[in-house]
Amino acid sequence: MAEASEESTHVLSNKHRIVYFLSSMRHFRDHLRSINIPIRYHSLEHHDEDSSLSYLLRKDILELNPLEVSIVKPGDFRVEASIRSVCRETGSELNIRHDLHFICKENQFEEHAANRKSLRLEFFYREMRRKNNILMEKSDPTGGSWNYDKENRESFKKTGPPSTAPSYEETPDRLTREVISLVEKRFPDHPGDLSHFHWPVTPRDAQSQLDKFVCEGLPLFGRFQDAMWQDQKTLFHSLVAAPLNLRLLDPLKVIRQVERAYDEGNAPLAATEGFIRQVLGWREYVRGIYHMYMPGYRESNFFEASETLPNFFWTGETEMACMKSCLTQVLDTGYGHHIQRLMVIGLYSLLRGVNPQEINNWFLASYVDAVDWVTTPNVIGMSQFADGGLLASKPYSATGAYVNRMSNYCKSCQYNPKESVGPKACPFTTLYWNFLARHRERLSGNQRMVMQMRNLERMDEGKLNGIRKAADSLLHQSN
Ligand code: SF4
Repeated sequence: MAEASEESTHVLSNKHRIVYFLSSMRHFRDHLRSINIPIRYHSLEHHDEDSSLSYLLRKDILELNPLEVSIVKPGDFRVEASIRSVCRETGSELNIRHDLHFICKENQFEEHAANRKSLRLEFFYREMRRKNNILMEKSDPTGGSWNYDKENRESFKKTGPPSTAPSYEETPDRLTREVISLVEKRFPDHPGDLSHFHWPVTPRDAQSQLDKFVCEGLPLFGRFQDAMWQDQKTLFHSLVAAPLNLRLLDPLKVIRQVERAYDEGNAPLAATEGFIRQVLGWREYVRGIYHMYMPGYRESNFFEASETLPNFFWTGETEMACMKSCLTQVLDTGYGHHIQRLMVIGLYSLLRGVNPQEINNWFLASYVDAVDWVTTPNVIGMSQFADGGLLASKPYSATGAYVNRMSNYCKSCQYNPKESVGPKACPFTTLYWNFLARHRERLSGNQRMVMQMRNLERMDEGKLNGIRKAADSLLHQSN
């Protein structure tokens, strides 16, 4: 096992992310040693400033002269390519094994994809439900429907969340505190406020976090999974993506536990199905797409978007209340829930026309659960529609009215989500119409964009010209 500084610097990783990875690795190392499994471990303190996994692997191969190099399928194409290159160079045989922390093997996904005109989550998800017998009654979906999304889109209205959201606050132990000091020393300029690091770094702690979610968060998770509220960071979300990605939890066991909560009458079907769709469906689906279409997938740029990432993505200093809140939160803590990512930060980037590779790198750097296999398809495909519809059927585009409906951010904002021009114009609303007008040709063939394009056609040319000018001046401002 190796702590290579390159893994924290190839993008400017948030300190929370670095601590989370390193502390989990060190706890795992100590566990292996406690059960007498020999392990060679490279600590960050003990090698050069600029160490890479390939440098450390080459060093070990030359010293140990192994019969073969055996690894599980890396979740990052860059890492796999560098390991392959070291093995080629040193003449070592490389054995790549299926990663048991995923339910669908790469070849199974390829079989699913073969002979299909287009890939869609829904078909893959149904197949996974049937194959793994999850939420099934014989050959039918439990409750008679595959999808309860309609019940899962509520906002909090004016009164806010109906009850206190569960708090997941592990107190860092000695090993984690050591890693926190090390990260503060080695990566002082990276974002992140480590005075409040609370992530679970062992399987036991991750399990107790999951137990708490199933008991306190799951009953309301579905209804409010798309809702946002100022200063409420986690709401009823599970936070399991990070411990799942670090292999502290097993996805199938997580799914079975959530399904059991429904069977025992402790969670509604819509919440249970919504959660299971994320873990059994979406998580496995994006991984399949990643391994099938990398390395070219990362470079996709359907809209030919070329704006640079505004500097406020690294500081949170913007007048847009929604962006300020979501950016400050993730810069400080390394966490933001999926709707903050997709319908605030990702949406703004899409509408502004930020280069997809730049925004992808920002996402890879910023979230504790960011790993290439999951972040790249979610950003390139889902959030930025840069793959032109390979992963999702339409771009997630909306005006400030969506943010207003699903949160209370607009209440404290100097802008008005209904206005597209003038001093109070909401940048989301201005940029939305400008985005549709700029990409009219590209979007007009998309059946799921028909309503939005029809509304654009109804707009008179004078108003649209005003919006174009307002959008232009927004692009020339730094915030
Ligand atoms: Fe965000 Fe616009 Fe609402 Fe302000 S008015 S919080 S910029 S959506």
